[in-house]
Amino acid sequence: MARQHKTIKEKQYFSILQWLTEQGIVSEKGEPFDWRNRPFLLDILTDMHPLQVVMACAQVGKSVTFALKTLFAVKHLRFNVIYTMPTDSDVREFVASKFNKILQANSSEFRGMAADNVDRKELNDRFVFFKGTVSESAPISTSADVLVHDEVSRSNQPAIETYKSRTKASPYRGRWLFSNPGPERDELDLAWNKSDQRLWQVQCGTCREWQDLVWPDSVDQALVRYRCRSCDATITDDMRRRGKYVQMNPGSNIHGYRISHLMCPDIPLADIIDDAQGDPGYFNNFVLGLPYTPGDLQLTKATIQDIWTPNFEKVDTGARFLGVDVGNMKHYVVRTMAGIVKIGRFTKWEDLDSIIATWKPQAGVIDAMPDNTAAKHYVDTYPFMEMSFFKENADNPQTIVWRGEGERSGIVYSHRDRVLDLMFTEMLEARWLIAAPADRDFGDFIRHFETLRREKVTNNKGIERYIWASTTGVDHYVFASLYAWLAMTGGGDGAFFGTMTGGAEKPTAINAENVYDPSELFRAANYDGHAADQRYG
Ligand SMILES: [Zn+2]
Repeated sequence: MARQHKTIKEKQYFSILQWLTEQGIVSEKGEPFDWRNRPFLLDILTDMHPLQVVMACAQVGKSVTFALKTLFAVKHLRFNVIYTMPTDSDVREFVASKFNKILQANSSEFRGMAADNVDRKELNDRFVFFKGTVSESAPISTSADVLVHDEVSRSNQPAIETYKSRTKASPYRGRWLFSNPGPERDELDLAWNKSDQRLWQVQCGTCREWQDLVWPDSVDQALVRYRCRSCDATITDDMRRRGKYVQMNPGSNIHGYRISHLMCPDIPLADIIDDAQGDPGYFNNFVLGLPYTPGDLQLTKATIQDIWTPNFEKVDTGARFLGVDVGNMKHYVVRTMAGIVKIGRFTKWEDLDSIIATWKPQAGVIDAMPDNTAAKHYVDTYPFMEMSFFKENADNPQTIVWRGEGERSGIVYSHRDRVLDLMFTEMLEARWLIAAPADRDFGDFIRHFETLRREKVTNNKGIERYIWASTTGVDHYVFASLYAWLAMTGGGDGAFFGTMTGGAEKPTAINAENVYDPSELFRAANYDGHAADQRYG
């Protein structure tokens, strides 16, 4: 007689929704999942098709959705998973703040999956490997059933490509891409274009037309409401909740989903309208979930002449702001909210004291490069002066101007290319004027602006972006104007922009070593031979 073995067998699920509900799986905060304001995530959550791409705006829960799919795939589909993020520090942050928290909140379901190992999670002989794509160490060489690529558009594109070979031995051969979009024609955008392109359509309660929500046609900005693109009736929150995905490119073997803030009933439309006034790269990528490649924005002689005025009194009104670009020859710009009132050059630092005494600026910004000794002196001598550093706020990409605190007080940080975009847009839209005399300096001023071009650059980590570059390196009045413009953003209350945090320096989620810093290239182009970095402090 055979002895009977007592076996404890856990139930194996084939439906992720059944698993979530029967096992009472909770979020990283220990709360049950609630899709009332994210109904469009349910299709994505339950989609176990091998090839999928999700192009999405920021902060809609896509990482948690894919963390759940990953855990389900490991435990119940018995898949091995390679999960990538842009950098190793992104991985550490994500595993600590999301993945481990989900494991801990559902400890009985994930018994045996240790939280302490960041790079590798194992459960019943199946694993999840986590890896940054921008990494000193080589890509994971082991094979897997599914590759999950989180934040593809901010990842090293060649590395993403390398991983394709890792699923060859698997019958499933899965590739799940999801990200905030970046520029057009990156891995994410290419995958989306090849996909079946599912858009969330909602039905108008009046004319019954099904339609996706688009900016600006679906928005009545004056009355702050969603409108039917066909009959102008109001589209309610519930109509948006009761939407459905419709394929725009049926027949493709890649499931594609797009998510925008316009689909989220809990995001105030007023905030979206506000975001639309700011940086177009941010608005497209992070709010609309659309790729964005800057157009051929350029400041021509005609544009600058168009905003020139002989009427000095009209422009010289209210507080004045000073911007100083530093080089052998120093260039300065004095402006008000209404526009530029004075431009000029000087060589001796004492001249700057006279300029300050003459124009009595409320605030001023001086270039901290190539040598911050003088800048530091002016910041120490004049409490209204700040020095400028170009930097990215990786933790909060919406913040493009922010101010240092503590030992870094007196520093204004800004995202070089995005603040240039904002200033140039203001000039193109004639939101302020130039009342400086039409002399030789003004001729130089125009020429400096004319040398700027937008260039696509790819760093050695394979990440693409657009930067403003001068064809000659002689762009001093552009930056003197930009510094005066930055001085204007201080205003004491730190609330000149909706985009500003008003002070606090945020810790960065992405390791500064791994972020491509356009100011490096700018410095290389403009200050040949100077030490690369002489940051204050
Ligand atoms: Zn309608």
